Amino acid sequence: MKKHNFSAGPCILPQSVFKQASQAILDFNNSGLSILEISHRSKDFVSVMDEAQKLVLDLLNLEGKGYKALFLQGGASTQFLMTAYNLLENKAAYLNTGTWSSKAIKEAKLFGDVEEVASSKDENFNYIPKNFNVPADADYFHCTSNNTIFGTQLKEFPTTGGIPLVCDMSSDIFSKKLDFSKFGIIYAGAQKNMGPAGTTLVVIKEEILGKVSRQIPSMMDYKTHIDKESMFNTPPVFAVYTSMLTLKWLKEKGGIEAIQKLNEEKAALIYNEIDRNPLFEGFAAVEDRSIMNATFNLKDEKYKSLFEDLVKAAHINGINGHRSVGGYRASMYNALPKESVEVLVNVMKELETQA
Ligand SMILES: *Cc1c(COP(=O)(O)O)cnc(C)c1O
Repeated sequence: MKKHNFSAGPCILPQSVFKQASQAILDFNNSGLSILEISHRSKDFVSVMDEAQKLVLDLLNLEGKGYKALFLQGGASTQFLMTAYNLLENKAAYLNTGTWSSKAIKEAKLFGDVEEVASSKDENFNYIPKNFNVPADADYFHCTSNNTIFGTQLKEFPTTGGIPLVCDMSSDIFSKKLDFSKFGIIYAGAQKNMGPAGTTLVVIKEEILGKVSRQIPSMMDYKTHIDKESMFNTPPVFAVYTSMLTLKWLKEKGGIEAIQKLNEEKAALIYNEIDRNPLFEGFAAVEDRSIMNATFNLKDEKYKSLFEDLVKAAHINGINGHRSVGGYRASMYNALPKESVEVLVNVMKELETQA
């Protein structure tokens, strides 16, 4: 039986995508060949890549605005260094809101000065710092839009003047409307809200490139991948194909606007229960709560085994919190049905009855 999957990543994708993707492994487009055994230069695959890139720019409303969509490898973690490699000449500004931001900062320091404009480390990253200044002499400003581990989310992005805004959107891309044209680079590991592990989406405003003096190895140079339409070397064909299917699913559902409405309903369901139920407490500051990852704890550990038994009996998967936070985390990415959240909320209510 299909489980209610709250896994933080890799995570749930639409069931229809799982079906189509598995069919393509057996016989891709009735070609008598698997998608895994054809050339990435074949007409059939090139059109998959084209469509995936078009869908990204279309869904983000970035068509005709000087942006390119790339499907690269190495995860979002490689983007921590690639962004700095390509943009950091003297100094970069970073907002530190969690584990992923901290890792990005560590990599950037290899390439130049890093000014941490603000950090919420003092409170184990349970909030988003506000009222910080982005220095006017920074080469770019980097932030993480959604902190997957801590369950906080940026509701506003700073105005950076002419400084490129670079954002790790791994865990909330395509989940809610934003003016994406404010960003110089958006990157996201596919496995949180777009597809399977194995590819990383990078959306770049081309004009921000070419400003550093260092030599950049071909594979690390965004220009290489832009010039070759994301086909400089063999792309992760299956991950790109499956991402394309998910993007198509999203577009058919009404795009980001429609999914945002559903995501907000799902988030309201769980947070209302966390706040109502006397046995639970939320981890993240209320105003900074993520609509993708809800982090919460039992107030009294003595109910842990009873709660976890009820969770298991309800066929719920993947709600254990990250080890740096503990407790629980319900990840509610685009493909998670609202019914799954209702099942979890009912389990929380049931615990209250039985406790
Ligand atoms: C999961 C995650 C990453 C790491 O992604 P990889 O693809 O595993 O390198 C980076 N940033 C955020 C916000 C994440 O959620």
